[in-house]
Amino acid sequence: MEGRLEPILKRPRPGSPPNLIDYETAKSAFTWEAARRELDGLPEGKGLNIAHEAVDRHADGPRRNQTALRWLGKKGEVREFTYADLKNLSNRFANVLKRLGIGPGDRVYLLAGRIPELYVAALGIFKNRSVFCPLFSAFGPEPIRARMAIGEAKLLVTTEALYRKKVAGLRPLLPKLEQVLLVGEEGKPTDVHDTHDFHQLMQEAGEDFTIGPTEPEDPALLHFTSGTTGTPKGAVHVHEAVVAHHITGKLALDLHPDDIFWCTADPGWVTGTSYGIIAPLTNGVTSIIDEAEFDAERWYGILQDQKVTVWYTAPTAIRMMMKIGLEPLSKYDFSALRFLASVGEPLNPEAVVWGERAFGLPFHDNWWQTETGGIMIANFAALEIHPGAMGRPLPGIEAAIVGKTETGEIAVIEAPGVQGELALRPGWPSMFRGYWNEPERYRKCFAGGWYLTGDLAKREKNGTFWFVGRADDVIKTSGHLIGPFEVESVLMEHPAVAEAGVIGKPDPVAMEVVKAFVSLKSGHEPSEALRRDLLAFARTRLGAAVAPKEIDFRPSLPRTRSGKIMRRLLKAQELGLPIGDTSTLEGMES
Ligand code: ATP
Ligand code: MG
Repeated sequence: MEGRLEPILKRPRPGSPPNLIDYETAKSAFTWEAARRELDGLPEGKGLNIAHEAVDRHADGPRRNQTALRWLGKKGEVREFTYADLKNLSNRFANVLKRLGIGPGDRVYLLAGRIPELYVAALGIFKNRSVFCPLFSAFGPEPIRARMAIGEAKLLVTTEALYRKKVAGLRPLLPKLEQVLLVGEEGKPTDVHDTHDFHQLMQEAGEDFTIGPTEPEDPALLHFTSGTTGTPKGAVHVHEAVVAHHITGKLALDLHPDDIFWCTADPGWVTGTSYGIIAPLTNGVTSIIDEAEFDAERWYGILQDQKVTVWYTAPTAIRMMMKIGLEPLSKYDFSALRFLASVGEPLNPEAVVWGERAFGLPFHDNWWQTETGGIMIANFAALEIHPGAMGRPLPGIEAAIVGKTETGEIAVIEAPGVQGELALRPGWPSMFRGYWNEPERYRKCFAGGWYLTGDLAKREKNGTFWFVGRADDVIKTSGHLIGPFEVESVLMEHPAVAEAGVIGKPDPVAMEVVKAFVSLKSGHEPSEALRRDLLAFARTRLGAAVAPKEIDFRPSLPRTRSGKIMRRLLKAQELGLPIGDTSTLEGMES
């Protein structure tokens, strides 16, 4: 219904058939109990623990010597870890935690780049039944302090360099932070005051560890949201979430045990944990970790050399690749690739199609949030893609479009094509169990038996969902409600435009008018003529009511560190208002 572009029908690919072929049958046959049976559970019925499902059950079985993680260092180093290696190392780390007096439920924060120790520590934390709280390594001292204070960090694991630069000065402000473990160079113990040495303690620790009884409802993860709309919230997830990580990895990312999988997200964001650590391991694949930051040619080289089969990335990276153009791609061989997926922001139709031109495969958009813990709505491998659509709910997930009745009750909007808030029926395993220390904020997310996502969307008759915008970002103009995504996607179709961010600017007559900020592709310069051309281009595509009335050029758009365009910041700047919480703004405080 929506798309300006034709649906993309899939060509059959050689290799394993998709895990989900017949959507309707899979959906009606699905139960979470059956999904749970795909996992082992702890021996002797002692519950469910993420690390056992991700690592130990493979290490004790035929995958023992398969590479679980292949780490690519910034300087070209490569380190491989088999499932057996990961079991031993995470056992050691769990023993380190015990020795330091860290117990079940205690919050252990991780502040590090994508180094192997981070992955080992995360798994050891799960084994020890403590709570893993990742922090993005480019955060400055204040966002680090704020997040550690909210979650009452008992132990921080970080690198010597990050500690000296960002954390040492915070110690007096964090009375609950009892200990700090520093990752230095192996074989060269750190001697920083009031800290322990990671590698030394690992060496001294035993290799045997028995995971204690773990209730599926025991907390496992505390993940902070991206802070796109305001102050970040600490979403709590439990061990049972692993059931959803596993099954969504299998159905939405189509993971097969022989896959080489690369999730480009950093574990500082939920995607980098759910799909950068947990889901690939539970599914028994080989997972690539790249320590370096985005660089298009480096990424193309990794896809080719590592023979990546499934690639999970984000719109911001795709747009950066599009900005550079197709030319550099011709040097590479992407024949190993089978499935491309994207998450984090709406994926413009142009970007979906660009995937076909660049890699011979379209990108599959999927939608979820820190709060949902795992993928909720997806374009599946076996199904056609409507460029610009988020896809359909995963089996086991009930999604609806809801609105408020005149009396303020939440009611489902059954009619297709009508815009409303995207809501999910609570009860899936990876649903957040609270915002840490903010019960009121949590309570407000639920009404009428639904979890309200804060995103606006539409549903078409066959159950495909289309993203409209965040509830806060929707523009009200002359009686219309306009989602910024639709306007941005059209601007992106213009050959000169690399990125677009659209806001509502208050207007005495129309209530709000649509204003766009665009950054240009290399080879294009801002000019009055181009502005007029863009305004006309958008008007032809969108009609006068929806098209932007004003366009400003920007060298780049403000983004969160997880790569999302911060429309609230564009708006605050435009109106000269306070810019609010910028702790996750890219380019700040690092
Ligand atoms: P905060 O809640 O602190 O404002 P955030 O919502 O950006 O930050 P995340 O949980 O990282 O934090 O992001 C989830 C949000 O990202 C979703 O609610 C949605 O707005 C957006 N999003 C994620 N994936 C998609 C997608 N495929 N299409 C459209 N929007 C998406
Ligand atoms: Mg959010």
